Amino acid sequence: MIFENNYEEIDLTFVCINRDISLRDALTKLNDNGIGILCLVEDENRFIQTLTDGDLRRYLLSGKSLDSKLHDLPFNQSITISNNQSESDARALFELHAINHLPLLSDDGKIITVFLRHKLDEKIGLSIPHMGIEELEFVQQAFDSNWIAPLGPNVSAFEEEIAEKVGINSVAALSSGTAAIHLGLRLLDIKPNDKVFVSSLTFVASVNPVLYEFAEPIFIDSEFMTWNMCPKALLRAFEQAKSEGWMPRCVIVVHLYGLNAQMDKIKEICDHYNVPILEDAAESLGGFYKGKASGTLGRIGAYSFNGNKIITTSGGGALISDDVELVEKARYLSTQAREVAPYYEHREVGYNYRMSNILAGVGRGQLRVLEKRVKARRQVFDNYVAGLTECSPLSFLQETDDNYTNRWLTVASISKDVSIDAKTVIETLASQNIEARHVWKPMHIQPLFKGAQFVKVENKSVAGQLFETGICLPSSSNMNASSQNRVIDSIHKIFNA
Ligand SMILES: *Cc1c(COP(=O)(O)O)cnc(C)c1O
Repeated sequence: MIFENNYEEIDLTFVCINRDISLRDALTKLNDNGIGILCLVEDENRFIQTLTDGDLRRYLLSGKSLDSKLHDLPFNQSITISNNQSESDARALFELHAINHLPLLSDDGKIITVFLRHKLDEKIGLSIPHMGIEELEFVQQAFDSNWIAPLGPNVSAFEEEIAEKVGINSVAALSSGTAAIHLGLRLLDIKPNDKVFVSSLTFVASVNPVLYEFAEPIFIDSEFMTWNMCPKALLRAFEQAKSEGWMPRCVIVVHLYGLNAQMDKIKEICDHYNVPILEDAAESLGGFYKGKASGTLGRIGAYSFNGNKIITTSGGGALISDDVELVEKARYLSTQAREVAPYYEHREVGYNYRMSNILAGVGRGQLRVLEKRVKARRQVFDNYVAGLTECSPLSFLQETDDNYTNRWLTVASISKDVSIDAKTVIETLASQNIEARHVWKPMHIQPLFKGAQFVKVENKSVAGQLFETGICLPSSSNMNASSQNRVIDSIHKIFNA
């Protein structure tokens, strides 16, 4: 693999010197550039050798003065790398020669840049924040107007901007996605001992709010196509419930890793039994299902702006619905359920779940780059697929024509025909400072939900198989091609060792 041009370039004027420079100036330059070496070059940046502190000190001790030019510097063969070698070659050279700098040379021996070891080994996170340029301006406005306290112009503007972006009537900006799911359950009138159908393969935040209300989650298995709630298993759960003479209060559908569940089928079933859907779209903001924004397909939707999500307010969430009154009620519940009165009057339990004006400012900036973030993550996915086509044990989660994913995380499952499992891949990558993760551990096998009901149609639980074989790869929107090649190279090595 050829070096990508987008490697963070070092300004060569800070690194390159020729023999006509004085020893004093060379030392000054070395001191100032903070890189730790200089590169001695001749005309047109033709590389001669790297120079360290020690080289210059020895030159001085050999009887030169600080004003001496570098004409008599002894020649040392330096380790370099050429344009047609790969990043793993670079890593091997760093290791083999115990060096920290590697000049990259063109075919005709000219210096292109200098690779720094610590850059090549930099930690690659699973999904890290990626700020745009406008966030600070909105936060600054909040500071300038001293609108630091909850609510304020950024909050209502953020709500309107989300509503417009996803095409929904109303939005309440909240302190987290979990808060949004919790209020969603409250709005759907969940009571203690009510039953709620929910995807088993998900993050625990989809289900914790069910426990907050002392209701009972019943877990539904996944399907292989979308990894999300299996419509057939959902139907089976409804049929069972009906035969036993009860109905769930709602169905929480999760769109994992950015890909939507098969909402047409799921909605048809829920409509038939007249049970509302709460969409956990924490991971799928920016995605679409048959032209409709993810999160807008059920009665209520929940987004998350946690730090690892596709856009972030550092922590936050939103509840959305076409039912304006419902969202108004969410705002009321999120601010301690305070009645309209000249004093503090309360009739029901409320929460402190509102988003602050500062964080809403961050959100407004982030929302403006949502499409860019989606594009970047989809590109990350495409690069993995292209780079790993020959890596047959991996099968990536595919999107279908009518299901546009934001590719929040690139996920794949590992064929059971190879002896290498997800745990090994994750541990090996971790040893190279690359953060990959297991797929969510299904809720029906979590100690927290011991004894909970689980409904499946296959012999073996699909959610369980996906957990055993699935991996999530680093997918940040600000991940550069160089980092991605590092992950791809590592994975190739793991499977071809
Ligand atoms: C992140 C996430 C949540 C919770 O969002 P927070 O903002 O962290 O509370 C809920 N469900 C899923 C599937 C998530 O990934």
